[in-house]
Amino acid sequence: MILDGRKPAKLIEERVKQEIDKLDFTPTLATIIVGEDPASKVYVQAKDKACKRVGINTITRELPIDAKRSVLISTIEELNREKDIHAILIQLPLPAHLDANGITEFVYPSKDVEGLHPLNLGRLVTERAGIAPCTPSGVIELLKYYNISLDGKNAVVVGHSAIVGKPMALLLLKEWSTVTVCHIKTQNLSKHTKEADVLISAVGKPGLITADMVKDGAIVVDIGITKVGGELLGDVVFDAVNEKVSAITPVPGGVGPMTVAMLLKNTVECARRSKNWRANNHD
Ligand code: NAP
Repeated sequence: MILDGRKPAKLIEERVKQEIDKLDFTPTLATIIVGEDPASKVYVQAKDKACKRVGINTITRELPIDAKRSVLISTIEELNREKDIHAILIQLPLPAHLDANGITEFVYPSKDVEGLHPLNLGRLVTERAGIAPCTPSGVIELLKYYNISLDGKNAVVVGHSAIVGKPMALLLLKEWSTVTVCHIKTQNLSKHTKEADVLISAVGKPGLITADMVKDGAIVVDIGITKVGGELLGDVVFDAVNEKVSAITPVPGGVGPMTVAMLLKNTVECARRSKNWRANNHD
């Protein structure tokens, strides 16, 4: 089975639009983009287009590639104070002199649409309602849409970034999978991947996951996206792996549309939280 992300993404979009129609204000998402990375600009345009489809207002703040950390932080703080901005997205990757993990701490937790503020990540650990990172929560929604149960399964996540791999592992644990997380120092990667009922790769190295590394009948989710020439490639050697698994996500058209859909969903959640935050003066 090919796990097409476009169908569930459309469903989520429709639900988000219905929710927005019921609000008495327009949710607004602000994106901060540092530098001129063409890929980042394409992503931001795609997100803006999706926001427009459901009735989310967007604004973009562009900073030069050599922007100082203090300038980026003042931009975030200005957007934090702006009452008509409900959600803030810092487009990654940031230039090397700006550390993304440190910077996200400056976004108000209630406006942290990517769920990367330590408070939101902490809520993920303690399984309290919060804003969860878009890509990993999109993977869970995708698997649910296709009625793939995670309960009691051996799940292996390759990649341990704060934005994808680690929250992915936490969300799988929440669904009662037994989780292994692999990274650059993992000895004998294929020993682990071969044990996976559910294998999730989030690395960004095309060809990393080959057919001999995957168990027969496994579920394979390819989060990786790398642009090679004009083509977008995942981490998984799709054709060969597809022959032996029971389900697999394509690249593009698998996890990508779910990430965008979850961004829309999180923006509405932020809009609600920002309103409540102002009303109650706490988060
Ligand atoms: P990242 O921060 O570069 O993280 C990559 C992770 O892979 C790191 O934890 C790294 O470990 C690990 N790694 C590198 N080589 C490895 C190897 N040979 N074996 C095992 N682990 C290895 O990237 P990210 O932000 O998590 O994104 C990962 C990929 O997903 C990228 O291709 C990105 O474009 C894609 N992505 C896709 C979507 C989507 O919507 N589909 C959304 C977000 C990201 P170390 O840190 O220890 O080196």
